[in-house]
Amino acid sequence: MANSHQLRSVAQSCPEYTYIGNLGNGLSALSNENKDVRCDTCIHWENGKCKIDIYDDILTSLDQA
Ligand code: SF4
Repeated sequence: MANSHQLRSVAQSCPEYTYIGNLGNGLSALSNENKDVRCDTCIHWENGKCKIDIYDDILTSLDQA
């Protein structure tokens, strides 16, 4: 199971990360520094996993860095 440190590290390295605030809930005005960039604030995160299934690939590439 992903821990919160991994969710953040992966999201910050993920080319597909899209902040949920961009969907128009009023949070999109936040600057990048104020966004909490983590997989669980990404539109692709669903039911505790990445629905476009790239989480594991990015986590693996981080491990190798
Ligand atoms: S949920 Fe998926 S697409 Fe979104 S940041 Fe995490 S790995 Fe990337």
